[in-house]
Amino acid sequence: MRAQPKASHFVNGDWMEDDAGEPLIVTYPGTGEVIARLHAATPAVIDAAISGAVEAQKAWAALRPVERGRILMRAVAIIRERGEELAQLETLDTGKPIQETREADWPSGADALEYFAGLAPTLTGETIPLGGDFAYTIREPLGVCAGIGAWNYPSQIACWKSAPALSTGNAMVFKPSEMTPLGALKLAEIFIEAGMPAGVFNVVQGFGPVGAALSTDPRIAKVSLTGSVPTGARVYQAAASGMKHVTMELGGKSPLIVFDDADLESAIGAAMLGNFYSSGQICSNGTRVFVQKGIKEAFLARLKERTEAIVAGDPLKDETQFGPLISAAQFDKVMSYIDSAKAEGARLVCGGSAGNEGPLFVQPTVFADVTDAMTIAREEIFGPVMSVLEFETEDEVIARANDTQFGLAAGVFTGDLARGHRVIGQLQAGTTWINAYNLTPVEMPFGAVKQSGFGRENSRAAVEHYTQLKSVYVGMGPVESPY
Ligand code: NDP
Repeated sequence: MRAQPKASHFVNGDWMEDDAGEPLIVTYPGTGEVIARLHAATPAVIDAAISGAVEAQKAWAALRPVERGRILMRAVAIIRERGEELAQLETLDTGKPIQETREADWPSGADALEYFAGLAPTLTGETIPLGGDFAYTIREPLGVCAGIGAWNYPSQIACWKSAPALSTGNAMVFKPSEMTPLGALKLAEIFIEAGMPAGVFNVVQGFGPVGAALSTDPRIAKVSLTGSVPTGARVYQAAASGMKHVTMELGGKSPLIVFDDADLESAIGAAMLGNFYSSGQICSNGTRVFVQKGIKEAFLARLKERTEAIVAGDPLKDETQFGPLISAAQFDKVMSYIDSAKAEGARLVCGGSAGNEGPLFVQPTVFADVTDAMTIAREEIFGPVMSVLEFETEDEVIARANDTQFGLAAGVFTGDLARGHRVIGQLQAGTTWINAYNLTPVEMPFGAVKQSGFGRENSRAAVEHYTQLKSVYVGMGPVESPY
């Protein structure tokens, strides 16, 4: 088994195994080959991880922020040195093309660690003069945070959550998706190699119940989840009963609006990136592409030409641009959405079938003449299926773009920058782009409104979600009391 780690879990600075846990078989989606056999965490493993984290957090929080930052920076250097090895592992774990995992996954994780390593030492409180007496504030860590990840960006998610959490003095117990358990284990190993004290970052494997055990444990101060809206609702509810902090990065059905004065090649390129990168398994994808009536047919003709030129194939080959879906269940789900689009009368422009490169491939697919009521325009597919919808006026497209329970992302392509800002200002979404799409640099807050989530990752904004303020009132004179 070519990606078998030393054990299933990483707890208290070391590998940990408990064969009593439910078996967890890891396959390479490119071929279906079994690459690792692990076990889900038993209650004993979960308890060891949380107790270890509680213990380690105190000393970690007591370090100078610059010392914590230095350790994170060493981890960044290791990640960059081993970029190729880590990209290969990420491709085996997810089936995403090596082209992508070299550029996007660990590199974006390293950026997050680097950013928060530098930011943490700059965080200070404020002094509040009160005419003799005064007050000051201290930004404190929350304690032990649980991170629960989805399978589409397993290593990036582990880094995006651990970077703001650890840099500000928290410890973390991280549960990856059971489909992609390998990257987070690598991160835990790298942190130890970089000099992080044992117990600060722990990884426990498992299915939903392990995530649920973390969300309900009273020793966990915060839960940060990347996942679907239904799971988010369950975790939010569980966290609420313990009054825990939460960050929820959930699903979407985001609009990408192309006006008739847009640069057509850029808009088409962005629509393709926002639907076909990672085989469409990206939460912020612009899956409802609204194209203004006058340019719609030209847009579709060129989109078809470019989409049909995408190179699908073995994800480990350099030239491959497009890989399989993560699992048979996801494949069935995506194919059933394609069937529903055909049955509901959408016009198939290209794709629309399973690919012949392997069992989990779905062709990059474009549907035109999609209406707002069709299932593919309303529900998150999480696969390479683009819906193109026609619109005529600005007001109309804003209303239609906002007519969804989701609110993660949105994009506008136009040559009129005033219109770009005006339209973005009215779209109900947490993360938006003008004449770009799906770029998520660590410097920019990333997050959602409406049912797509709560809280922000990346940027200074993430610090708010991993720290709490303590106010200290300092009395400088005798206490005046009426008693
Ligand atoms: P799921 O919601 O199925 O799972 C997310 C994580 O939660 C997994 O680790 C899962 O474990 C775990 N989990 C499941 N049930 C519970 C529970 N009751 N309590 C605690 N944890 C639980 O999402 P997927 O893994 O299928 O990922 C796809 C979804 O993630 C899409 O909706 C996508 O939009 C969203 N996503 C959002 C992103 C964002 O930043 N907004 C980014 C990436 C994806 P297990 O897998 O073992 O069941």
